[in-house]
Amino acid sequence: EVAAVSPSGDSSIGIENLVIIGSGPAGYTAAIYAARANLKPVVFEGYQVGGVPGGQLMTTTEVENFPGFPEGITGPDLMDRMRCQAERWGAELFQEDVEFVDVRTNPFIIRSSEREVKCHGLIIATGANAKRLRLPCEDEFWSRGISACAICDGASPLFKGQVLAVVGGGDTATEEALYLTKYARHVHLLVRKSHLRASKAMQDRVFNNPNITVHFNTQAMDVVSNSKGQMSGVLTKRVDTGEESVLDVKGLFYGIGHTPNSHLLEGQIELDSSGYILVKEGTAKTSVEGVFAAGDVQDHEWRQAITAAGSGCVAALSVERYLVANN
Ligand code: FAD
Repeated sequence: EVAAVSPSGDSSIGIENLVIIGSGPAGYTAAIYAARANLKPVVFEGYQVGGVPGGQLMTTTEVENFPGFPEGITGPDLMDRMRCQAERWGAELFQEDVEFVDVRTNPFIIRSSEREVKCHGLIIATGANAKRLRLPCEDEFWSRGISACAICDGASPLFKGQVLAVVGGGDTATEEALYLTKYARHVHLLVRKSHLRASKAMQDRVFNNPNITVHFNTQAMDVVSNSKGQMSGVLTKRVDTGEESVLDVKGLFYGIGHTPNSHLLEGQIELDSSGYILVKEGTAKTSVEGVFAAGDVQDHEWRQAITAAGSGCVAALSVERYLVANN
């Protein structure tokens, strides 16, 4: 049986003003703004990342670049504060994954395993996940040597001044490698193919940087650790000769792209070729009126907590305007 949502919006006819899907910085920021605008948002927080709400930052330790925390703050602590702030202003939070969305007619229909909700406005803030290599020791070293975000982790004491490796041959990997040269002693770029897929400009910057060595036809196979259990190298394999060797590095960065969590909307709103939700430039508007997107699910470029939060704010204010204009 599907439970009824507690009264909010024009609940006399069972339709909410706004549903927000996602509980990362984008979802909670949208919830804070929408709740303060008296829209009584219903938030499906999901539990896809690690079985808890809060999104990607629940999987990290220190966040050093979120404004307002000069000493840094842990990812879970930051997300807990955002959650409390959303709740304090009256957002209604459900720790449930949305399993079905229909935005072909308004009111939209949102369904989890527990309930069905109809709404006039919808914000998709379902985030993205870094693609992983699935190395045998990956889980053990995730955030303890393996990272998927140079901007987030490059300056951390774990990596600063060390020799590091980046995996990938596209724009993401070359950008990560170039960024890491600001802090690392040297960066090895491991490219499975015999060429880079990155733009010509990025390739030139990589090849002209004496602190980057590019290894073509080279695949990362696993992480190697020392007697203290710390990462001490990467086991690599030449794709052409099969030869294996160990590269002495203290960190391994994945630059092989992200998968946006947009499958619920496939065939209903416009996505780009990689599955990112397309928004009208400079706005949170998707191809469907009343449906807005915020955070990493629509951002293949910046992918930061603060940019996600900023776009969540834009989405919430846009919904408010949309509802006023359509009432
Ligand atoms: P996410 O944080 O990805 O959250 C998406 C949410 O949507 C999740 O709660 C998920 O459960 C939910 N969801 C997905 N599908 C559904 C569904 N069907 N139903 C309901 N809910 C659903 N950025 C920084 O600025 N600084 C850092 O130091 C930093 N460190 C990082 C460290 C790591 C290890 C990682 C992985 C990322 C880091 N980032 C950092 C990047 C930052 O975490 C992301 O840019 C940010 O979290 C994106 O926010 P978001 O709200 O768009 O999505």
